[in-house]
Amino acid sequence: MKKRCVFCHKVLDEKGRCQNKACPDYIRTQILEKADKEAANADSATADGTSSGK
Ligand SMILES: [Zn+2]
Repeated sequence: MKKRCVFCHKVLDEKGRCQNKACPDYIRTQILEKADKEAANADSATADGTSSGK
């Protein structure tokens, strides 16, 4: 069963984030997605240098 946003009742995405731009919870979605991107960038940057031998 899909989870729904408590603010706008839109079905959340697979990460439990509301993708409704008009929803107050979308601000949180944007912050989380930005953090995800930065984490992904940091991961690939470190993976480049340290895990190439694996
Ligand atoms: Zn929402």
